[in-house]
Amino acid sequence: MDRPLILVTNDDGVHAPGLAVLASSLEGLGEVQVYAPDRNQSAVGHGISLHRPLRVQQIKDGWHSVDGTPTDCVLLAVKHLLGRRPDLVVSGINNGPNLGDDVTYSGTVAGAYEGMLLDLPSIAFSALSREPNHWDAAGAVACRVAEMALAKGLPLETMLNVNIPDVPLGALKGIRPTHMGRRRYEDDIIHREDPRGVSYYWIGGEEPKHVIADGTDFDAVENGYVSITPLHRDLTNYASLDRFEDLRLSLPEFFEAPTDSPRKN
Ligand code: MN
Repeated sequence: MDRPLILVTNDDGVHAPGLAVLASSLEGLGEVQVYAPDRNQSAVGHGISLHRPLRVQQIKDGWHSVDGTPTDCVLLAVKHLLGRRPDLVVSGINNGPNLGDDVTYSGTVAGAYEGMLLDLPSIAFSALSREPNHWDAAGAVACRVAEMALAKGLPLETMLNVNIPDVPLGALKGIRPTHMGRRRYEDDIIHREDPRGVSYYWIGGEEPKHVIADGTDFDAVENGYVSITPLHRDLTNYASLDRFEDLRLSLPEFFEAPTDSPRKN
């Protein structure tokens, strides 16, 4: 049997230290192939390039740079370039956390999300610090979690979002399964003028605030644990579907329905 094929991507770009850590930490588990953006693509979310050509460059054995997003990288690799379906898709290790609502902005999470959409076991890894001192610990955690996913698989339409505190391996308290917390971005919009007197805007001023609730990803990392959040493809709020039953209208009713009638909660 072939060795497991592991596709590695990230959003910090092909030269980011976390990518090298992730690729080398997984070498013992199978054949590692790297397809990563040629520059920093942080916070591109699940963006995909549909309106321009994409170029791929092999930069060394098993390493490729793509002038696109993490989603582009995974799509090109899985659907065309790898030659066979990978057994695992991993993304990271991101320089900085992807906790709570970060997951929808994150290019790191999107790389794994795309793997999930292609029905492959997929994991996003992020280091808590923006200047990590303990890459070796993060790499060891990534290897352990990837090994588990290769051995046991992952639930259908589910990816893992893993956040790793920046401490030595021996100082990690363990691993906790968590649910997505709530990140409260203040979204400060900074308004200034450029040297030619033209206005510009910059999103994001102060550090975001978050709510530490029991069982959340924030709670786990704050207490020294690795957080593993299983994320599901389907964002539907099933519990609320009943509330929208009165919107189930057939065509004639749709046009007859009064638009100003107050609806109950
Ligand atoms: Mn990033």
